[in-house]
Amino acid sequence: MRNRLCKIVATIGPASSSPSMLRLIHDAGVDIFRLNMSHGGHDKLRTVVQSIRDIEKTLATPLAIFADLQGPKIRTGAFAAGSINLKYGGEYRLTLSNDAADEDTIPIPHKELLDVLEPGDILKLDDGKLQITVKEKTERHLIARADTPGILSDRKGINVPGRRLPISAMTDKDREDLAFALDLNVEYIALSFVQQPDDVREAAELIKGRAGIISKIEKPSAVERLDEIIELSDAIMVARGDLGVECAPEDVPLIQRRIIRDCRTAGKPVIVATHMLESMVESIAPTRAEASDVSTAVYQGADAVMLSAETAVGRHPPTAVAIMDRIIAATEKDDESGSYKSAEREAETYTTADAITLSARRIAEVLDCSLAVAYTKTGSTARRLSRDRPHCRVIAATPDEKVARQLALYWGVQPVVTEDISHFHEMVEKADTLAKTHGGKDGDRIIIIAGYPFGKRGRTNTLKISRIGAIE
Ligand code: PEP
Repeated sequence: MRNRLCKIVATIGPASSSPSMLRLIHDAGVDIFRLNMSHGGHDKLRTVVQSIRDIEKTLATPLAIFADLQGPKIRTGAFAAGSINLKYGGEYRLTLSNDAADEDTIPIPHKELLDVLEPGDILKLDDGKLQITVKEKTERHLIARADTPGILSDRKGINVPGRRLPISAMTDKDREDLAFALDLNVEYIALSFVQQPDDVREAAELIKGRAGIISKIEKPSAVERLDEIIELSDAIMVARGDLGVECAPEDVPLIQRRIIRDCRTAGKPVIVATHMLESMVESIAPTRAEASDVSTAVYQGADAVMLSAETAVGRHPPTAVAIMDRIIAATEKDDESGSYKSAEREAETYTTADAITLSARRIAEVLDCSLAVAYTKTGSTARRLSRDRPHCRVIAATPDEKVARQLALYWGVQPVVTEDISHFHEMVEKADTLAKTHGGKDGDRIIIIAGYPFGKRGRTNTLKISRIGAIE
């Protein structure tokens, strides 16, 4: 059992892909493993998935894996010399041709982008390190002026803040990677550069329920239609790397806060990602500002926080995870942590299951329960409990391995794969054993939630309060 409720996602890369390092970062606190499909060949990723499944088997603890599709990332083409030196105020031709370009030309092999660009449009290059502004558009090419000096090398990313591009969210590479990831039976697929709800619908048609969908919010156009995107997705990621390039820095904290709040209201898990402990790519300790950033995400109610380069290519992956774990645990000790704030949504009508999970939250508070054990076939009872943020951990007991693994992403939920129960005494007895093996102590009060008749889906209607070691 972890000593905290908010979950940790780690991005796997050269620094963390060996079986021993995967085990070390798991033991330090990783609950969800992110495979970045922009890097790493399929053979390597298959081996990583196998190693994670081996850890899961050894420790009998369900772990979630998600494949993060590259999406329609727009990049510059190649330069004859491998790079050019952008001069402040210098003028450059933007051309479609992907032939290696001279020092006055920036090749952009994306017709759909060149077609929509207009004078005045700002292009951020290389993750926002460089900037050019379109000055002139002719039949054959565009002319742009460099707003910043610096070296621009081959295949650097291009962001056009504020422009919605007429491109599908799934490239041919994404389709191949998606088929591969589904074949590996990953729990979630993350979609990059979602611009509109239709992008999520398009992916859902291909995924056909074989994995959950995490929509990455990194474009202002996605922020504009946030509620619809949340509704269509299983989880959301605040992808602050690209979001920070597309939006003004002063807007990013407000957007993060709004995304977390809207996800909480909708009852969908939300991951805060990127640059959380960035200095730990090199350094053995984070800056105080970084520690504060992780803590803020927890205070705001995030379900999970994510490490990117820190674990993918950093020098200290297990230490970065361990420090993130400590920051979360320390923040959660503060009772005022927004982490415990229930979604508090006003529903027009409440179901029996809503009433049970809302009551469980209140019972946990007034009786100071240490655990809630939820018997769940589809995972929905555990998801509801997580949304209502009870002041106790939730053990989700399910016979379905995929459901258990998916639940690893949810705030406060410890999934366990176990056979269905068949009668009331077994329900209490099994909950007692699960509570003891998950940190409960004799005499602790626990809440047990199930659906009767047992073993049927969607019937949450039973709540029992019990004491560990004193089965009645
Ligand atoms: C991000 O932009 O914050 C992000 C998580 O996406 P990627 O790492 O794919 O750029």
